[in-house]
Amino acid sequence: MYYPEPISKLIDNFTKLPGIGPKTATRLAFYVLDMEEESVLEFAKALVNAKRQLTYCSICGHITDKDPCIICSDQRRDQTVLCVVQESKDLIAMEKMREYTGLYHVLQGSISPMEGIGPEDINIPSLLKRLQDDTVQEVILATNPNIEGEATAMYISKLLKPSGIKTTRLAHGLPVGGDLEYADEVTLLKAMEGRREF
Ligand SMILES: [Zn+2]
Repeated sequence: MYYPEPISKLIDNFTKLPGIGPKTATRLAFYVLDMEEESVLEFAKALVNAKRQLTYCSICGHITDKDPCIICSDQRRDQTVLCVVQESKDLIAMEKMREYTGLYHVLQGSISPMEGIGPEDINIPSLLKRLQDDTVQEVILATNPNIEGEATAMYISKLLKPSGIKTTRLAHGLPVGGDLEYADEVTLLKAMEGRREF
């Protein structure tokens, strides 16, 4: 590259975006140079703000623009029940049901030996930490009804056994192999009501 450093740096950064090769990156970089300074600043600000304003809740792991998230900071919610889900979108699915009033813990994934994802790679250590004071009486394992989800639920239930905390799993009836987020509200509600102890 024979470009001055600021341009080659800009090209490099555009190349990091998905679907953008060196040719497009170069075109975009030169386009930015032709833009009004005000527009460039606005663009840069939008990038930084999108990143800065979203974070993960330091308590439950849910994606949020406030830490702790609105669910964790809501004192009216039942502090004794904790529903463990894989992703933030599963939490949203549960919330749409409008029946569950407890708290959540978002794992940000599932245990998958095939993909080399172990318990330490998802939010299991933070879950265990949360359960140390005796506030939580029941942990509902609402991981997806597929192999990874089941394995993750099994693993957590074994970990919790010595603690004496009641551990429940959503009832069958959820589409096997599917994702929690795609279950309709009635199915999810039934699965929740029919949850059984491990
Ligand atoms: Zn939270």
